[in-house]
Amino acid sequence: METKTYRIVTFGCQMNEHDSEILAGILEKMGYQRTESDEADVTLFNTCCVRENAAQRLYGHVASLKRIKKTKPDAIIGVCGCLPQQPGEAAALMRQLAHVDLVFGTHNTHRLPELIARFKETGKPICEILAEGDVVEDIPVKRASQLKAWVTIMHGCNNFCSYCIVPYVRGREKSRQMSDILAELSMLGNAGVREVTLLGQNVNSYGKDLDGQPDFADLLRAANGVPGIERIRFQTSHPRDVTTKLIQTMADCEKVCEHLHLPLQAGSDRVLRLMNRGYTVAHYLNIVDGLRHAMPEISLTTDIIVGFPGESAADFEDTLAVMKAVRYDSAFTFAYSPRKGTPAAASNEQVDAAIKQERLQQLINLQNGISLELNQAETGRVHEILVEGPSQREETVWVGRTRSNKLVHFNYEVGMAVGQTIKVLITEGQTHTLYGTRQS
Ligand code: SF4
Repeated sequence: METKTYRIVTFGCQMNEHDSEILAGILEKMGYQRTESDEADVTLFNTCCVRENAAQRLYGHVASLKRIKKTKPDAIIGVCGCLPQQPGEAAALMRQLAHVDLVFGTHNTHRLPELIARFKETGKPICEILAEGDVVEDIPVKRASQLKAWVTIMHGCNNFCSYCIVPYVRGREKSRQMSDILAELSMLGNAGVREVTLLGQNVNSYGKDLDGQPDFADLLRAANGVPGIERIRFQTSHPRDVTTKLIQTMADCEKVCEHLHLPLQAGSDRVLRLMNRGYTVAHYLNIVDGLRHAMPEISLTTDIIVGFPGESAADFEDTLAVMKAVRYDSAFTFAYSPRKGTPAAASNEQVDAAIKQERLQQLINLQNGISLELNQAETGRVHEILVEGPSQREETVWVGRTRSNKLVHFNYEVGMAVGQTIKVLITEGQTHTLYGTRQS
């Protein structure tokens, strides 16, 4: 019997990448095999609406598959993820892309087998969007890596930052039971996975909706005891929910890596208020002090938005000042762009595009200088590296990461294996990469 194939095109963040692993797991359990060909029997576009112009980019991709429907009328084309979850978008998709067969949202991924079966039976396009969903367990996952795994610990977000669409498309916070998460971690540890990243829009508020209210620190401490797992990372953290208990737990648990991604977003209290972030710069800097006191080797990374509606030149100077004060190891920097349906998009104080670009460039230049200095200062230090395999450019140059999440290139040596933990002496630090040699 001919094998049926599937292809998944993923847009967006790690949460979406992991959702695609779940879609792949479901399809493989149904007997489909992965292909990268346009002619797959099922093609799913897993969309994101956090980034700008998501709809336009999606429409371009999906429209190009119209010809496939002519040569292979049975091929199923679906659109899922955040975009159809936005009010009006699912209907617009069905209207404008007549060759799309399935449209479903973020809360009914697990219903994919039923949706496919129903479509095959009726031949009629299906659109199913649920406003909210329960936490569903025991869904198969086809993970991209045998070495590292993402594990979702909670869904949704309650924060309503004024620029962000996530709470509208992913719903309110819903935590997975700690026992289910630990069972998944044990299974991964037994299967040879060495590093896990616990995922959620705001992992620090984990457990608030569960009986007994275990918190994220409790989960980390329990995860630290799972055999086989060597490294634990997590994201994303919200500064408002970083507690002293969490900092101490990170410091105490030897498997929890010395790295925290802590979005600042803006270095001005006025802009933080406009963003509805729920903390002040002083509070943020206090957390940074606490982290560095407990873990002097910790690396810190962040997200910063420039040109938020109402951001003045003085506000932007405040952001530069925080960047200089914290000296992040690296930063994801963005020029603000409006998301339809969010309060910030309706503001009449939008910042001129040219000013946003100028500020963004200034911020990038500052951060690149700091990253370079910090990475150059790594020269002569020895790091524990989890070996990931050959680099994309050269077979003989392999890559791995430090516990502090820095990418390191080193020469392959006979006997070196993926998943091994080795010591590497850093010989050169560049802005985004370290270079080193293996230490025996
Ligand atoms: S914390 Fe704010 S930025 Fe992050 S997902 Fe929630 S609303 Fe969006």
